[in-house]
Amino acid sequence: MSNSPDSKGPRIVAIANQKGGVGKTTTAINLGAALVEQGRKVLLIDLDPQGNASTGLGIEPEKRENTAYELLLDDASLGDVIQASSIKNFDIVPATVDLSSADIDLISNEKRSHLLYDALRQPAMDAYEYDYVLIDCPPSLNLLTVNAMVAAHSILVPLQSEFFALEGLSQLMLTIREVRQSANPNLRIEGIVLTMYDSRNNLSQQVEEDARSNLGDLVFKTIIPRNVRVSEAPSFSMPVLEFDPTSKGAMAYRALAGELLKKHEKVAA
Ligand code: ADP
Ligand code: MG
Repeated sequence: MSNSPDSKGPRIVAIANQKGGVGKTTTAINLGAALVEQGRKVLLIDLDPQGNASTGLGIEPEKRENTAYELLLDDASLGDVIQASSIKNFDIVPATVDLSSADIDLISNEKRSHLLYDALRQPAMDAYEYDYVLIDCPPSLNLLTVNAMVAAHSILVPLQSEFFALEGLSQLMLTIREVRQSANPNLRIEGIVLTMYDSRNNLSQQVEEDARSNLGDLVFKTIIPRNVRVSEAPSFSMPVLEFDPTSKGAMAYRALAGELLKKHEKVAA
């Protein structure tokens, strides 16, 4: 099984943190939109039964007949499950609440941890010519998240600039280590991104200091500020980059995409 970042095909980035409400889905949607703005073709896989990424990109529940569940557990092809969003070059595999049973349905499957890996390496993948596949993980370290970690080249971790932010990171790192040992030795940590940062709040500054001193270069230079436009955008079924292109949130996600692209270009060089 080859999963090195320089292998052909899209770069697959799982956005994970077992805490809920830290900005995973917001980052998946807006980093995706920013990469598209910068000329890349992106597929977002909604792996959370809550389906917030699907909703945020305007895929109504009645249009979610074929979802990540079918891709993992019903042998659906990529063509069956990929949908275009309203943004050109930004596609999505949606999720519904059905996915909440996937964790149990996966247990009895012999390939339980590798189903997403296999699905994303279907020969049909090449024809889509994606540059990036972003996986929006559920708020748990369950088999769905493990599937994302096995399928991915790297993990991007949103860290909410709040008290206890760093708690739970060690559990996440442990899971990453286990996945490296068992299935995906090349799995990298793409980086940790501070989200919902409030520069007027001492606590945000403290979390940043702690993160940078403990995690060093793993922490992205870009910080995502708390910005009301970011939280309003999903109810208009749009990334904030489209909803309010000059908002602080939109600018920050553009900068994050820039930082990511620069990193990858360096690796590729
Ligand atoms: P997760 O996917 O980790 O559960 P979400 O991305 O859904 O987290 O974010 C949780 C909540 O916080 C959502 O209501 C979202 O709109 C809001 N939110 C996320 N990022 C920001 C931000 N930078 N500024 C303001 N609100 C945000
Ligand atoms: Mg989410």
